[in-house]
Amino acid sequence: MTTASALDAEELELIATRAADRGEPAAGAAELVAAVDGGRLADPQDASIVLGMAAELLLEADDPAASLALTERVIDAHGAHGSPSEFARMFRARLLFLLDRADEAMAELTPLRPLLTSDPDAAAEITEALLAGDRDELAHEWLTEAVAEAQQAVPEDEPDDDAGRVATMVLFALLTERHEVRHGLGLPHDSLDETAEELEAAVQEEERAQLEAELSEPVLFFPSAEFDELSRRLPEIARICGPTWDEHRADIERVLAARAEEGLPVGLRLVRGSAAGLEALIDSRAADDPVADDVFDDYVNGLDGQGAGQPWPPARNEACWCGSGAKYKKCCLPRSRVA
Ligand SMILES: [Zn+2]
Ligand SMILES: [Zn+2]
Repeated sequence: MTTASALDAEELELIATRAADRGEPAAGAAELVAAVDGGRLADPQDASIVLGMAAELLLEADDPAASLALTERVIDAHGAHGSPSEFARMFRARLLFLLDRADEAMAELTPLRPLLTSDPDAAAEITEALLAGDRDELAHEWLTEAVAEAQQAVPEDEPDDDAGRVATMVLFALLTERHEVRHGLGLPHDSLDETAEELEAAVQEEERAQLEAELSEPVLFFPSAEFDELSRRLPEIARICGPTWDEHRADIERVLAARAEEGLPVGLRLVRGSAAGLEALIDSRAADDPVADDVFDDYVNGLDGQGAGQPWPPARNEACWCGSGAKYKKCCLPRSRVA
């Protein structure tokens, strides 16, 4: 049952990342374990995931013994819920290696080896475990054999079904892990390494293009009078844009400041929306869900296409972009620093 103090998956993950960012992984782990033991999970099924996050934090805190004890609990929790525990067991093998219990580690890892050719996430975890036990040569051997097997499963043409797509992801994961292990061993590039580097470069290129596309999208802004109008006409949409106009402009300043920090050479700009304009678009759609994201996207892109975009940021002493009449440095600039 959900109680007032119940924590959902997102909040728990936040606890973990914040503790890691603060450089206090052990404290974060203790907090997560306390939430599980105190019955404060909104969904008790999350126990294995939360304990798993705690176990990772304890490894980060350089306490593999405590991490192992928690990992045993994770595996038990998976057993109790009938969920698969393979990845927890790969992590257990890594800890056993770190604790100089190599025989047990190999006994845990060996039966999991077939996952190398069926699960795209297995290559990284299994390699990590083997490297923790200084089994670099063995990792190379397992990965090389798995690559040969995985190549058979990859379709000739662009995959058009799930099985084909998974096979392609599996092969990519194996090739990149193998490439890294070979560099660690000081081996020269072979043809598979060439392929790995080509694929890695293509993925990076794609990620960068995606990021640039995201960062170059204009941000929708409603001037004060339009925001008030929007709150009257379409209150549910006004809530999405920010419960108050002050929060609306603070949100925008934060979003744009964060994009600027990414440092990519893309135009940062705002488009000014109007309540009537947005309402007309929503009416013309007669959509079931008027707050669906694509309505916003289409509205913004339409305005942007008409050249309604406004560059951001203004100079510090110029009038603020929000239209308040105050100088930027005294108006919205400081808002980006207030959470
Ligand atoms: Zn290389
Ligand atoms: Zn302002």
